[in-house]
Amino acid sequence: MSAPSDNMTMAAAPRSRPLLLRHLPYFIAAAILVALAATMRFDGYILNVLMQATTFAIAVFGLSVVLGLCGQINLAQAAFFGFGAYAVGIGTTDLHLSYWLCLVAGCVMALGAGAFLGMSTLRLGGHYLAMVTISFQQIVTLVMINAIGLTHGPDGVSNIGRPDLFQTGQGYLAFCVAVLAIVGYGVWHLPDTRLGRAMRAVRDNELAAGVSGIDVFRTKVYAFALCAALGGLAGGLFAGGFAYVSPDQFSFAESIVFLTMSLLGGVASPIGSAIGTGLLILIPEWLRFLKSIPGLYLAIYGLFVILIIRYMPDGIWGFIGAALDRWRSRIKAPAAVAPLLLKPATIGGDIVLEVKGLSKYFGGLKAVDGVDIQVKRGGVHALIGPNGSGKTTTLNVLSGLYKATSGKVLLDGTDITTMPPHQRTAAGLGRTFQNIRLFRSMTALENVEIGAERPGNTLIGQGGPAALTERAMEALTFVGLGSRANELISSFSYGHQRLIEIARALAANPTLLLLDEPAAGLNSTEKLELHELLKRIAAQGLTILIIDHDMTLVSEAAQHITVLNFGRRIADGESMAVLRHPDVVSAYLGSE
Ligand code: ADP
Ligand code: MG
Repeated sequence: MSAPSDNMTMAAAPRSRPLLLRHLPYFIAAAILVALAATMRFDGYILNVLMQATTFAIAVFGLSVVLGLCGQINLAQAAFFGFGAYAVGIGTTDLHLSYWLCLVAGCVMALGAGAFLGMSTLRLGGHYLAMVTISFQQIVTLVMINAIGLTHGPDGVSNIGRPDLFQTGQGYLAFCVAVLAIVGYGVWHLPDTRLGRAMRAVRDNELAAGVSGIDVFRTKVYAFALCAALGGLAGGLFAGGFAYVSPDQFSFAESIVFLTMSLLGGVASPIGSAIGTGLLILIPEWLRFLKSIPGLYLAIYGLFVILIIRYMPDGIWGFIGAALDRWRSRIKAPAAVAPLLLKPATIGGDIVLEVKGLSKYFGGLKAVDGVDIQVKRGGVHALIGPNGSGKTTTLNVLSGLYKATSGKVLLDGTDITTMPPHQRTAAGLGRTFQNIRLFRSMTALENVEIGAERPGNTLIGQGGPAALTERAMEALTFVGLGSRANELISSFSYGHQRLIEIARALAANPTLLLLDEPAAGLNSTEKLELHELLKRIAAQGLTILIIDHDMTLVSEAAQHITVLNFGRRIADGESMAVLRHPDVVSAYLGSE
């Protein structure tokens, strides 16, 4: 085992010690709730409402992961809930198995079904996912009703068992509250873990997540399977609580109720889930006196939900949270200034990027047509050409967002032609976008942390969260924004957002940095800032392939230029010679 460097140990230590202390209030509050659930004398009606709220909330936590964190829809949560409920129902009655075994089996079945469903559909877009989950939900309902030998059909399963330890209603409720508290803790802290950050990145901007090194598909599948597993767990607890399950409790309508609960409370946080669940269970109880007039009850209930969602689009908790944010001072302590260490790989040959006969056709349009590029190590290489000449398309093929029609791309000798974006990033490619793509719900620091987390970033190694934050802070400081690390993206000017995007790419310590028109849309002061930054990056020996229209910048910064026109390479070579080339003058400079 290699010893961690001194400054890593020092950075990690003060973070880990108060962690438990900081979370102590949560566990004390949870313990008080559990004790209350166990000891207060509820009548049967209140007990049932609490039992339902507790178990439903766990299923809704699942939705706050898949929808709130990862931005994927799941319209079958009641089906996964049913997996857990029937596993405990059938398991403890017909099969005489232990409650615990059945509870775990229900979770695992839901997890498996969720993972399978996710793997088969998550490559498709949003509408397909909605359709597939609805179909899955309907199939599960049909099986529950019609596989009478297994599920007892519409009659349902009764006399479902509970663990010996929690035989009384109150005891079992206390157990459910404890599970709720533990799951809630996990969901609450998930956004700050590596997986949680990846989920948020995927939700905010899938393309940028991919080129920042995140395996988008796998992240979605994890979110979906986790949601399903929480549904299964909740269903198992529910079955034990009510001792009876039947198919109508797990119908499509119930899936919609779960979804409404999460949207109503605020899908972004487990607190929102808890609020939404409580409200949607309580409102019908409050409106019970209206039940004598048919229809009126449903109309008022529906109106109430519509009003909340209309006027609080981020849910009740989102609304409260935004108000709190406005109160709180946003400025946090500025961090120490540190220069950015870039360690471009020095193994491999003189050529970092070798593009051979690269083509990309869109139907009949040859956007890129047999282009060769050789990017030398440690230099700045510019790719220029008139609008629509195929520059962005070339970069998109290089970073894996488009599949090449033909040709080869070698990065440091490795053939990356068919790799998905996140693997190219892991192999050492970094990039920014012509139209900025940041993760908009995150702070500047969190955006850059996602970059720093790139698999293969040797500067982080096994350093853990402290090293990650430190690296991200350094990159932000390097672009001049270290003091604003904890601000949300929306509070930065366009020019500064571009700098954050560059910092995100730099934090990953790439072998090659691809920049697509970094000066586009900047005012003249911002252009000067950017110009100065690019010089500092180049001075570190990082290899850069840059697209730009600004001829002053290109001629000053780049040693080598490749010119495209109508998708073809019309000139290539040392900067000054290329800029004087007659074809270039007529095709490009002449057109302005
Ligand atoms: P540049 O970045 O040099 O201005 P682009 O690479 O964006 O040019 O575009 C090159 C050509 O490819 C243009 O004619 C553009 O309309 C076309 N193109 C780019 N992306 C697509 C796409 N996704 N589908 C179809 N055509 C595209
Ligand atoms: Mg372009």
